[in-house]
Amino acid sequence: MGIKVVKFGGSSLADAEHFRRVAAIVKADPERRFVVASAPGKRYSSDVKVTDMLYRCYDMVRNHEDITAYYAKIAGRYNDIIRDLGLNFDISGELEYIRNAITHHSGRDFAASRGEYLNSLILAKYLGFDFIDAESVVFFRENGVYDEEKTKVELRAELKQHQRAVIPGFYGVMPNGTIKTFSRGGSDVTGSIVAQAADATLYENWTDVSGFMMADPRVVKDPEAIKTITYRELRELSYMGASVLHEEAVFPVRNAGIPINIRNTNEPEAPGTMIVAGTKEYDAERIITGIAGKKGFSVITIEKDMMNAEIGFGRRVLDVLEDNEMPFEHLPSGVDTMSVVVASEYLEERREKLIASLNKRVRPDSIVIEDGIALIAVVGRGMVKAKGTAARVFNAISSADVNIRMIDQGSSELNIIVGVDERDFNKAHNAIYHEFVK
Ligand code: ASP
Repeated sequence: MGIKVVKFGGSSLADAEHFRRVAAIVKADPERRFVVASAPGKRYSSDVKVTDMLYRCYDMVRNHEDITAYYAKIAGRYNDIIRDLGLNFDISGELEYIRNAITHHSGRDFAASRGEYLNSLILAKYLGFDFIDAESVVFFRENGVYDEEKTKVELRAELKQHQRAVIPGFYGVMPNGTIKTFSRGGSDVTGSIVAQAADATLYENWTDVSGFMMADPRVVKDPEAIKTITYRELRELSYMGASVLHEEAVFPVRNAGIPINIRNTNEPEAPGTMIVAGTKEYDAERIITGIAGKKGFSVITIEKDMMNAEIGFGRRVLDVLEDNEMPFEHLPSGVDTMSVVVASEYLEERREKLIASLNKRVRPDSIVIEDGIALIAVVGRGMVKAKGTAARVFNAISSADVNIRMIDQGSSELNIIVGVDERDFNKAHNAIYHEFVK
């Protein structure tokens, strides 16, 4: 029998009703032996996540404000869950201890981590599973970086002692014993770490969407869910703004060859999205896997006659960027022009200085900076085999009466990136989507 590690996000554990759904999912498959839990998320759109409430308590203490009334709301969230589940479980001692600790300046990360700690205690009780505190099995180094080696050894040994257990997500411990969290959304990372240590056959990540969508639902109406996506495609799409999973969650399981299955707690019968390493066993069902895009880019175009014969020109341009601590996104170039695509935020205070440095270092004929560019990435492992994909992308965009400002295709043929004016972003996005998904 294989082992599945299942992680439930905050919206999947926001109230008793969701706890029941979670229990039904866990109990439906005996392979679901290790459960990683987030803190209670929002119950409705204007609600506040418990993690945010805990951060607020921490800030209040720093401002010498009394947290009693506000903390009572946090306690209320947990007590409501316990009561509505009909559990005979008293966590008042824990709640009191935590309130005291926060009041006496326990660290910011300690405060935030108690959201998952308490939720996991309740979930373990409700499921009848053991509770393993992340504090005893997830380690960080002195410099704050996650300690993979130590965690693997200790966590693996601990998991062996348990048939079934709940482990809180999001945090671990520093060498000096203080609590440290991953960045926001970090329970995804814990889930991945647990899956790796358990030698799981699958890491199920349960959330409130039925997987990765082929396009951003805020831009394209009711986009289809992606059935399978490779880690590399996922990286390309996430980089361009598509987000369902914490970026760092991919590494532990990818290295161990464990697939991730994104599932929807509110629609458990939907297969969700499988994130896999190889493409052999999962042939692409479509030429393109997904589309994602971001606004807020600028294109710096540098022109100089006979540039292509000037050795070291490109290096000098990049040196200037480096001196100004500016990362770049793309470098499309022509015979006598070189363009650099950068996120506009980096230009805010450095525009004049950058132009002056470029003038000095490469003595160009002209430098033009255009702002307001949006980038759209069309990603798909199926593109390697299909001829004419680029033509279809460009045709779709021009048929929508949108002017393409920049094109970049990596030689891996995993993606095509086009730059358009920001005002054409939605139009271009939809045109590409409907070209490939009828
Ligand atoms: N509760 C934490 C957050 O809101 C971590 C998580 O849910 O993954 O960021």
